[in-house]
Amino acid sequence: MICDFCYRHCDVLPERLGFCGRREIRDGTLADAGYGEVVAFAVDPVEKKPLYHFLPGTRTVSIAMAGCNFACDFCQNWQIAQERFLRGDFLSPESVVRYAREHHHPSVSYTYSEPLVWQDYMLETAALARREGLRNIMVSNGGFSKEALARIVPMIDAYNIDLKGDETFYSTICHGSLAPVLDGLDALISAGAHVEVTTMLIEGIHTEQMVESLGTMLMDIGAQVWHLSRFFPQYRMIGRQATSEGFLEHALEVARHCGVPFVYPGNSSLVAETRCPACGSVVRTASGQTVPGGVCLHCGTHIYGVWS
Ligand code: SF4
Repeated sequence: MICDFCYRHCDVLPERLGFCGRREIRDGTLADAGYGEVVAFAVDPVEKKPLYHFLPGTRTVSIAMAGCNFACDFCQNWQIAQERFLRGDFLSPESVVRYAREHHHPSVSYTYSEPLVWQDYMLETAALARREGLRNIMVSNGGFSKEALARIVPMIDAYNIDLKGDETFYSTICHGSLAPVLDGLDALISAGAHVEVTTMLIEGIHTEQMVESLGTMLMDIGAQVWHLSRFFPQYRMIGRQATSEGFLEHALEVARHCGVPFVYPGNSSLVAETRCPACGSVVRTASGQTVPGGVCLHCGTHIYGVWS
């Protein structure tokens, strides 16, 4: 049976799992091999997703089940994302939403591993969260299928999507593909969703030209916020050096030159404040204090984002 949860469209065979390790045939239909078995639960500052232009200063209830539709050699969450048979304790969508409500957190985040591969659980939780007045955040590698986009776009309020590298990078290091990610980003931005993009830079692999080319792609589809973060050795790249602050600083200059309005460092001690693109005034300090309503106090320019 063909799974349409992501761009891979795996043909899932009886008594086998799809590429992600989550989808199986049960009672003649496709189902999640461990529905609701949450392997990570935390309350994070929303800036940790990272989202700098969405409800800044708030905390978000963050959950994950195991699995991913990519297999990146540098995976920073490989213990849960790349583990194909990891089981967890059952946590119902109702209890996730109840927890967020009782602790006055305004959003639920589907994050850490790849929510696309457990999207039935994500969508059920998101529907309940929305009914309770909460927002929904998805942190994803962006390897959507068209069918998944049609289901997800109406339910999720904000996204952080990875744009990892060029096609060669995707095929050789991520065992994935660039095209569905670009199509997905384009579709989300065109639909008016709040979107921030992250690229983790690996010194010695990402080049100035690659950063430039990614910046051009982002400008073409109208992306507003781009986080460039430092790589730290993990998983199959445990032997590499961490990306230096100097390399990141230069990449940030290149990225800003491309014209993406808001560019930020991640996993770094570099300052990550927000400046008004029109007059240059600080509208969000590095500690997260933001001007009321997301409007520049100096020149009145509306800053991209969801501020309350
Ligand atoms: S979610 Fe993606 S990787 Fe997993 S079975 Fe479905 S199509 Fe395959």
